[in-house]
Amino acid sequence: MSDKIEKMPLDNVRIVLVNTSHTGNIGSAARAMKTMGLSQLVLVDPVDEPDGKSSALAAGAGDVLANAKIVKTLEEAVADCGLVVGTSARSRTLSWPMLEPRECGEKLVSEVGKYSVALVFGRENNGLSNEELQQCHFHVCIPANPEYSSLNLAAAVQTLCYEIRMAYLTEQRNSKKSDIDSPNEYPLAEDLERFYSHLEQTLLKTNFIIPQHPGMVMTKLRRLFNRARPETQELNILRGILASIDKVNPNKD
Ligand code: SAH
Repeated sequence: MSDKIEKMPLDNVRIVLVNTSHTGNIGSAARAMKTMGLSQLVLVDPVDEPDGKSSALAAGAGDVLANAKIVKTLEEAVADCGLVVGTSARSRTLSWPMLEPRECGEKLVSEVGKYSVALVFGRENNGLSNEELQQCHFHVCIPANPEYSSLNLAAAVQTLCYEIRMAYLTEQRNSKKSDIDSPNEYPLAEDLERFYSHLEQTLLKTNFIIPQHPGMVMTKLRRLFNRARPETQELNILRGILASIDKVNPNKD
């Protein structure tokens, strides 16, 4: 099988590790990725940068480790992604659209031809923060033993990358069927972030949000829009509506 054809599509699946403490886990995650045909590793503010321990555990995946990108924030790591899925070992107070691991693999693979997609993993000691989880369109939880559901970080990477691979192999098998139906165009995460800031500014101007008592309104609106997943054109309409409101209230800030 041609290595290039094999690797190209999954090269746009980005594995993002947030604030990892153990450098060994970074190496093991790189190995887990490469065995499943993934290569794009992004480290958000790692406690320590990859070291000898990482290389030892990466074994034959030293190239994935060497090419890993280090960035300061999750926002930066996923800015150019059209689909962002966060992982969590437990359900949080604020419920969010959830995917099963299998659905997660299928969804990432079905959209990876259109833009980069990201799967985000949290800290070994306390996972992803609520704020980080709210930057994701979907959450995925591996339905492990309820009495002990927290997998080792690299084991979670392996499990979810395996699902991505299975979905990819199935798609390759079915590719003869050729699904050339026109897909929807979704905005990138950075466009959504711009929309959320615009929305917040406008709601401050209209006094819908009181700065001293902002409450949960922006979080709930984010959840609403992430669930609805506006298409690019729909987001443009929403931005247009906000601009028209701004025009009526031009002098307040
Ligand atoms: N104590 C943390 C668990 C951290 S485990 C918590 O309760 O959130 C480190 C990371 O591995 C998690 O942030 C997540 O990215 C991944 N992980 C571990 N177990 C998982 C599970 N059952 N489902 C999905 N991701 C999991």
